[in-house]
Amino acid sequence: MRGTVLLLQHGLGPLDYLVPDGLPPGAVVEAPLGPRRVPGVLWDDGVFETRPVDEAKLREIRALDMPPVPEPIRRLVGWVADYYLAPPSAVLRMVLPQSAFLAPPKGPGQYVLGDLPQTKSRPRAEMLERLDAVRGIGPAPLAVWAAAAEARVETLRGLVKAGVLLPAEVGEEDVVVSRPALPPGPVLSEAQGVAAGELCAAVAAHRAQPFLLDGVTGAGKTEVYLEAVAQAIREGGQALVLVPEIALTEAWLQRFRKRFGFAPAMWHSGLTPAARRAAFRAITSGEAAVVVGARSALFLAMPGLRLIVVDEAHDQAFKQEESVPYHGRDVAVMRGQFEGVPVVLATATPALETMEQVARGTYRELRLPDRHGGALLPDIHLIDLTRDPPPRGRWIAPPLAKAVEERLARKEQSLLFLNRRGYAPLTLCRACGERIQCPNCTAWLVEHRLARRLQCHHCGHSMPTPKACPSCGEADSLAPCGPGVERLAEEVALLWPDAKSVVATSDTIRTSADMAGLVAAVANGEVDILIGTQMLAKGHDFPNLTLVGVVDADLGLEGGDLRAGERAFQQIGQVAGRAGRGAKPGEVFLQTHQPRARVMQALLHGARDEFYAAEREVRLAAGMPPFGRLAAIVVSALDGAAAADAAKRLGQAAPHAPGIEVWGPAPAPLAMLRGRHRHRLLVHAKRTSPLQAYVRDWLGRVELPSSVRVTVDVDPQSFL
Ligand code: ADP
Ligand code: ZN
Repeated sequence: MRGTVLLLQHGLGPLDYLVPDGLPPGAVVEAPLGPRRVPGVLWDDGVFETRPVDEAKLREIRALDMPPVPEPIRRLVGWVADYYLAPPSAVLRMVLPQSAFLAPPKGPGQYVLGDLPQTKSRPRAEMLERLDAVRGIGPAPLAVWAAAAEARVETLRGLVKAGVLLPAEVGEEDVVVSRPALPPGPVLSEAQGVAAGELCAAVAAHRAQPFLLDGVTGAGKTEVYLEAVAQAIREGGQALVLVPEIALTEAWLQRFRKRFGFAPAMWHSGLTPAARRAAFRAITSGEAAVVVGARSALFLAMPGLRLIVVDEAHDQAFKQEESVPYHGRDVAVMRGQFEGVPVVLATATPALETMEQVARGTYRELRLPDRHGGALLPDIHLIDLTRDPPPRGRWIAPPLAKAVEERLARKEQSLLFLNRRGYAPLTLCRACGERIQCPNCTAWLVEHRLARRLQCHHCGHSMPTPKACPSCGEADSLAPCGPGVERLAEEVALLWPDAKSVVATSDTIRTSADMAGLVAAVANGEVDILIGTQMLAKGHDFPNLTLVGVVDADLGLEGGDLRAGERAFQQIGQVAGRAGRGAKPGEVFLQTHQPRARVMQALLHGARDEFYAAEREVRLAAGMPPFGRLAAIVVSALDGAAAADAAKRLGQAAPHAPGIEVWGPAPAPLAMLRGRHRHRLLVHAKRTSPLQAYVRDWLGRVELPSSVRVTVDVDPQSFL
């Protein structure tokens, strides 16, 4: 029989093969390709068009011993490839990552943690402590223990010999570990109970309903959706929870473990290959009851899937920019449709797109109006930097400094938020005016003083901080301009030499263990002043933290694309939500040069609905999303003239179609990236116009040299 196979091979479309009798669509197979054998998936008939080949010439595929790709996932692959104009094989790669094909671990392989031995060695004691903290994951393979406890597998082998990690009998009772009798959750407030009830009912009824779970930070959104997760587990099913960042999974994990008494399977890019493989097996076999992960977890087959949660659903991190540029939030909703399960978007500051789906009646809104237990929302103050500036060369204005001092006196904690890594965003030569730029990108190099290097935040290029100006050679003439968190930390040390401060950015907090350490230090009162980037903005709950200072509230408004205001509102709203989560009331200071800007006023007055209404008006008038649709097209090449020429030709070839306009080409704001010159075109379509078909047809007509790369981004978030 003839059948179509989607090969896991970059740049190859679906091909026809001879299929052994009885092999169903979705089977994972190995197909001959020239002299090689390539893995792929037998696809449903009639989905893809293939090149006609004589039946006699077809070569035969062989089934691999792996769980098949279920029908809803095959539909999802098709939809994502179609909607985002991506090669289906690239989407399939997310369903079957490399780790799916790794050989299974040898031997019985499952271990539980026994009694801990005494030890004098500090690193060893710490490692044992970390193991103890994740005790609940057993029985598990050594690789999983190693990943969970940040230990080396070799070290753990030693613990097996010493009888600390004990081989577990693999049998019925192991399944019990991931499906235990659930302890009861907290007593819910009335509004929480209503929301949880609706979600549980939707889980029980297999209803493909998207929900917006909307409530201020601290309202109990997490408690509510965990009830729905519990419902999925009680029914013997699986729940998938997406979180925006790996660093956040740790805080989430601790909370989950406390609530349920076992650990979920984790899926993110930080796992070791062995841990990834073990997680892949547990998830796709249906054994893992709960999966928490980054956006890539969205594509894993889960035979028992009953619920999808997107936590902090407004977060930019759900948008993938490289490879297949999909939006995890939207793909989650589609998957819910295909699987027949509810999808919960939980956030205090929904995207305008999400609000509009509620207004259209597609998504159902569940609102939690107040913070749990009567905790008050923090008081917000604006500091007008034009009137109340900090001293020269400093960044903390007097009113904010005073507020920090009050906290220090009361032994409460403060958070200073600045979404800029490093010491200074720009290095300038005082002698010749040279600004040190990345050789590969249109971007300044950022000074990282701790590492003594200048770094490009776009391509990763880095060099030791020079002593003399690279342009004019003048010694000691280089001056940092503007603040990053490292510079802010210097100011904090100068102002309050006795205060204990910590800088938290992706440079200092690299692993989930780092994050756990930080969270513990803050909880134990070992930190007075936290200084950090967006990494600290979300998820964490520090009861003694009563002050948040946003050092540069205008930062998010830079660039000025259509979502700048919304993004600033979301990010500042979220970081403000860190203040006063316990019994003590919180205060938030926003330092701004534009106190009259709409977003500042909305934050000041807590006028969320008015802010959204005004943003909506602007977008509606301009026909911008969600009232119109966009696709960004970037044409790039190593050679500047080739890129410009290709962009021009592409622009000229744009067909006429009703309701669709093409803007550009123009040099991209990030005119050079990783050495490639970039030009942008933007396709704008009415909501009902066939954007994808238009772009596909258009790009199919133009023949460009192979040195030119064209990327398409449907529903773009970035306009750089
Ligand atoms: P959100 O996710 O909306 O920010 P959380 O679910 O994190 O809110 O709740 C905020 C805090 O209040 C958490 O410490 C949570 O455990 C607590 N909390 C919320 N609802 C309840 C409840 N019904 N009973 C006990 N504690 C609750
Ligand atoms: Zn660069």
